[in-house]
Amino acid sequence: MPLVTLRQALDAARSGGYGIGAFNVTDLVQVEAVLDAAARTSSPVIVQTIAGASAFGSDDLYWDLLLRSVAHYPQVPVVVHLDHGPDADTCRRAIDAGFSSVMIDGSLDPVTHQPSSFDANVAVTAEVVAYAHARGVSVEGELGTIGGSEDGGGTLKEIILADPDQAADFVARTGVDALAVAIGTSHGAYKFTSPPDGTVLHMDLISTIAARVPGTHLVMHGSSSLPADLRATINAHGGALPESWGVPEDEKARSTKLGVTKINQGMDSHMAYMAALRTYLDTDRLSADPAPANRAGRVAMTDMVAERMAVFGQAGHAAEIQVAPFVAR
Ligand SMILES: [Zn+2]
Repeated sequence: MPLVTLRQALDAARSGGYGIGAFNVTDLVQVEAVLDAAARTSSPVIVQTIAGASAFGSDDLYWDLLLRSVAHYPQVPVVVHLDHGPDADTCRRAIDAGFSSVMIDGSLDPVTHQPSSFDANVAVTAEVVAYAHARGVSVEGELGTIGGSEDGGGTLKEIILADPDQAADFVARTGVDALAVAIGTSHGAYKFTSPPDGTVLHMDLISTIAARVPGTHLVMHGSSSLPADLRATINAHGGALPESWGVPEDEKARSTKLGVTKINQGMDSHMAYMAALRTYLDTDRLSADPAPANRAGRVAMTDMVAERMAVFGQAGHAAEIQVAPFVAR
């Protein structure tokens, strides 16, 4: 059962009491790393990518090859998800390409990158839901704003936490399958200046919102841990990542008990890849072939993702999702 929808995967996760990691991939080597980790650990998995943010020159070619990769892993259910779709057109483009799930991030104005109004968020999200659901595709929306940016640039400084009353209203008016809730996490390789505690990470907000929207899945964004050993390795081989703290492993595991079923993790696997890549390049100075360096990155990323699949609880649950595969239409 290769391609499934986000709704199918997350419904199974909720019944089973576990979370499913959504891992960001920016080229086909990373796609293989994530799918290999899913196969190794018998995990359902969400592979996600951001429009325009890949090593490829065109989304068309990358998305087509990404979708075709899934057929090579018939033993694991795979959701192919668009992460942070900035507008309805981009979401329609991913749906038409064959993605089984999209995120419309209506929390930010696509032009000004400032928080948009609640009504504007509802309008664009409902528009995407209508198009997606008519084609059997799942939709994730976002309420509140999550700090930082997906590429680690950190453009948005102010984090606006999700409001439980608005969450209920938002779900009723849009019909989203999943909701990204801002609880204080931040995107990118620079998150918190000290280990996060209850004043930074509002874990209590998860259970409050979950109780208000029982039919909707909650998504935790920006949940990489930013392992200090990987940062040290990267910096020992030419990197200059500043000291920073991410979301602790046990907090991610705890979030799945409070109502989170989708855990977004981009930076940790990218750090694992980069640490191995930089180490290889520093060690083998005679090679002009990029393949061995990328292979080292892939192997390290597979190990990292497989480890996280055990933490999130999805490991061992691949065979439980017995649903009709998603077929694009
Ligand atoms: Zn995000």
